[in-house]
Amino acid sequence: MKILEIRTYRLDEFPAMLFLELQTDSGIVGISENCIGAVTIEAFIHESIAPRLLGQDPTNISLINEKLRNDFIGYSGSSISVRAHSSIDIALWDIFGKTLELPVYRALGGPVRESIETYNTCAGPGYARVSSNIERDRASQLGTNLGDSFEDLNMFLYDQSRLVNELGEMGFRALKVWPFDQAAVDSGGRFIEPEALAAGVQVIKNIRAAAGPEFKIMLEMHSLWSTSVALNIINATKEFDIYWYEDAIRIESSKALQQLRAKTDADLTFGETIGTKFEYQKLLDLKVIDHLMVDPLWAGGISESRKIIDLAHTYGILVSPHDCTGPIGLTAGFNLSLTNPNIEYQEFVRAYYFGWYQEIVDGLPEFRDGKLYPNEEPGLGLKFKSNFFNRSDLRVMISKL
Ligand SMILES: [Mg+2]
Repeated sequence: MKILEIRTYRLDEFPAMLFLELQTDSGIVGISENCIGAVTIEAFIHESIAPRLLGQDPTNISLINEKLRNDFIGYSGSSISVRAHSSIDIALWDIFGKTLELPVYRALGGPVRESIETYNTCAGPGYARVSSNIERDRASQLGTNLGDSFEDLNMFLYDQSRLVNELGEMGFRALKVWPFDQAAVDSGGRFIEPEALAAGVQVIKNIRAAAGPEFKIMLEMHSLWSTSVALNIINATKEFDIYWYEDAIRIESSKALQQLRAKTDADLTFGETIGTKFEYQKLLDLKVIDHLMVDPLWAGGISESRKIIDLAHTYGILVSPHDCTGPIGLTAGFNLSLTNPNIEYQEFVRAYYFGWYQEIVDGLPEFRDGKLYPNEEPGLGLKFKSNFFNRSDLRVMISKL
């Protein structure tokens, strides 16, 4: 089998998203995506990956990964080249599963569980629309109500009991919220006014009161804070039994991470913003984290994420694959969630899963009672919707053998 074409797709409605297909001479097509920096990743794929990929046998996943890993620069972290490479790896696994006529999680060795628990990340339907990057001061990232279903960001800020009731009825037992982001936007993360701190604490207090003691609350801090303010927020919310504090500070300084760790025994989560097993080993070796996140779209695809999850296992750390990106990334993480023992949760955004993800693909893993269940379709089990290719906002680029 040979890879004949790389086709990349962008949609004006979702400028952060890049979708792609690898076409083969057997007729089998592998699909994938990436998120944030879509135009640049697309350009890198056609400029730099296509010459190394076209004509290759797509079932030689390890060999292709070695070829793509050998960039002169940009091969570590979550650089554009690592993220472009991640997307290709996921499409290769889709092809491999389809070649074997097995779902990817079976091609990876089979499931260790029949489903995986999710938590709801309380983004709203407008969170990913229109913007090509994460802009924390955009109205839809600060809780503007667009009048759609699942306005979870607006609800976590202004109607916590309704949010908790809705989630409980759908079977969720955990949620993630970020009530301090506006204050970080206002101060550049340097300080937090007492009123802003109190307002964010009140949100958490209301969620805990509505949810009862069993429900898990994750506090997302989006890498927006200085270490001292992050500690203020952690100390002010601890009494409400926060399950984990996520990206409390930027991950770039090992000294800052160690300083934060030394000053709190709260559960800390990091990881979704970095890539490759080498970066994860450095993070794990610092012994500053209690939980780990990994995004297959950003960390190196299914192949590298699997190694990262295995590596975390040797440190006794549980991993939650990231979502709030796109439907193919969710499904890639889900397949890893089924095959790796040390998975804690699969992140899940109901506003996306029941919203725009359904406009892009068919065949998503089934959500039932707070958990995701697999189907038996080969590969990732996903297909672009038939109308995807007829959209008036579709932009296509093709590299051919
Ligand atoms: Mg996060």
